[in-house]
Amino acid sequence: CGIVGVLGRHEAAPILVEALKRLEYRGYDSAGIATVNDGDLDRRRAVGKLINLQDLLVHDPLAGKSGIGHTRWATHGQPNVNNAHPHKTQRVAVVHNGIIENFRDLREELAKQGVGYETDTDTETVALLTQSYLDEGLDPHDAATRTIARLEGAYALCFLFEGEEDLMIAARKGSPLAVGHGDGEMFVGSDAIALAPMTDKITYLAEGDIAYITRDSLKIIDGEGRIANREMRVIQIDT
Ligand code: GLU
Repeated sequence: CGIVGVLGRHEAAPILVEALKRLEYRGYDSAGIATVNDGDLDRRRAVGKLINLQDLLVHDPLAGKSGIGHTRWATHGQPNVNNAHPHKTQRVAVVHNGIIENFRDLREELAKQGVGYETDTDTETVALLTQSYLDEGLDPHDAATRTIARLEGAYALCFLFEGEEDLMIAARKGSPLAVGHGDGEMFVGSDAIALAPMTDKITYLAEGDIAYITRDSLKIIDGEGRIANREMRVIQIDT
């Protein structure tokens, strides 16, 4: 129900948790974060309030300056740790708001390639499909783009990749998503309020947009595959 992301200059985990707290008002049943650190993707997830995730992170910290986070409002699958986001394969981690309507078709397609699923969620299918395109030899940019093109339903998505500490890919269709510009840092949030402590420079994605984000660049492709120039606004939100 809430998405955050950071390509930062500081440890990502506390920044992600603080940003998720600012999205608590939306309601949620579980939460999680993933980071990429020395190239490796890893994640921590907990059921219930964010304090449970914070407790977990004290005992089992997650290093890395690039990460994504999520508060979940379950639509497909029970609210348990296994179904909590981020969903992850070896090479990609994904957070998602909304519903992937055609996930059963995509699951069947993946099953024919011998790819099985491990959660009850629609979202896991997005990670599995992206991994299958990576396995075919596509780079993260093309694998995510091709995956997003296959999705039906409503979504805000954010992808993080193994071996890629300077790349997040975000997409919006039916669920809002904002990109925040820092000083040598970039952020993603379901809304600008989540990002208010970090930055007041916000680019809102439009319907159908895919954003390719590095620490010093933002490229947005619209639903027709054209480069889109979305304005960056300086917004005023009380922190
Ligand atoms: N449909 C997804 C799930 O049930 C995402 C729900 C949400 O927006 O939090 O895991």
